[in-house]
Amino acid sequence: MIKSAKQLVKEGNVKQLSPTLFQVLNHQVKIQVKKGRNLLLCSCQNSSYFGHNNFCSHSCAAIIYLANKDLNKRLNESIKIYEQFKKLKKSLPIEGFINELRELRGLS
Ligand SMILES: [Zn+2]
Repeated sequence: MIKSAKQLVKEGNVKQLSPTLFQVLNHQVKIQVKKGRNLLLCSCQNSSYFGHNNFCSHSCAAIIYLANKDLNKRLNESIKIYEQFKKLKKSLPIEGFINELRELRGLS
């Protein structure tokens, strides 16, 4: 299940519609805070939440997406910057590149 959830994220099947709502393929995953607990509700089941055995791959994909969101945002920004360097045919500032990778490692 974990692998297929990762695959869903990798293939771009997770869209965040709001801070607490995700579209995963043709299902919606909602994060609900109830009595201080985070509940994950997916439209493929009547209810599923942390600790339950029927934790579906859509809910799992939404959590993976959320965990990787900051890192992916930074990676996309970095890719844009280095593509600019490539266009300008400037040599890559290798020290900056290494420092950036170290910083990104801290976000993972
Ligand atoms: Zn589901």
